Amino acid sequence: MNRIGILGYPLSHSISPEFQQAALDHHQIKATFHRWEIKPDKLNAFFETIEIVNFLGASVTIPYKEKCLGLVDKITDSAHLIGAVNCIVNQNNQLVGHNTDGSGFIRALKTKHGFDPCGKNVLLIGAGGAAKAIAYSLVQEQINTLTIANRTVSRGDELAQRLKLNGPKINSIKLERQTLINPLSNVDLIVNTTSIGMKNGPDPEHSPVPPDLIPQNALINDIVYNPIETPLIKAAKIRKAPTIGGLDMLVYQGIEAFELWTKKDAPENIMYDAAKKALGL
Ligand code: NAP
Repeated sequence: MNRIGILGYPLSHSISPEFQQAALDHHQIKATFHRWEIKPDKLNAFFETIEIVNFLGASVTIPYKEKCLGLVDKITDSAHLIGAVNCIVNQNNQLVGHNTDGSGFIRALKTKHGFDPCGKNVLLIGAGGAAKAIAYSLVQEQINTLTIANRTVSRGDELAQRLKLNGPKINSIKLERQTLINPLSNVDLIVNTTSIGMKNGPDPEHSPVPPDLIPQNALINDIVYNPIETPLIKAAKIRKAPTIGGLDMLVYQGIEAFELWTKKDAPENIMYDAAKKALGL
């Protein structure tokens, strides 16, 4: 039996096994999707003992996305530039590290929501791991401007500096009411990549953008998926702004990974249904 799995620690929150197994079963692929909850001191041994013959690949989640850069045989240019691997593919018995977080985010925007980021003004809230992947992919899509608003300005500055090599006008600001007013006056897309609004996170009750400042005509994308309706999404709906929740990025990064592992078109609806069921929706 072929094996795929998700690698992380802890893994109790992950719904990837449910929606990936549903996709494998749909295509009648003889493979089992595992939950590889590997403690940090066992990670190197995990890689040393992989039986490569039946191993199709893995998803990688917290806290191993950066560590895996040094544990695979090769990495793609995008994973290198983002600085993280979230998907490992067995390519001719070599482990290749990809990053599908950013490409999955863009694919959900374009194919599911008909939003083309090319030429748009984007406000990115946060500068952590997910922000890096999304920012890199938005720059590849030739957006017009990118404003990065983060609590710790130095992290936003660092990300802006890395991306400036590639193109659009990029600006880093502090995440606070006063500094958000100007970028919010001319923005097409707002993406929350912070943990603000996440259940059991550092600040589950608040929206990272003050509700009264949310513009009606911008698309509001919150990548937090638990809860499905975050304080930001709720506030945007009250303002009658269009919204996208975090389940889309989650499923689409998995769709991109599934297609890399199996070379087959992912059954999107089946994966969505299984993801929703796993979240109890
Ligand atoms: P990370 O690398 O730890 O980054 C966390 C970000 O949140 C940083 O920008 C941090 O700011 C900010 N932050 C945390 N607490 C804050 C607070 N109380 N006030 C203001 N800012 C705060 O985490 P990550 O891996 O990027 O994940 C971030 C969120 O995205 C999580 O909720 C995660 O579940 C979600 N996510 C969703 C998907 C998906 O597929 N939908 C994929 C990946 C991640 P500082 O720099 O100032 O610390």
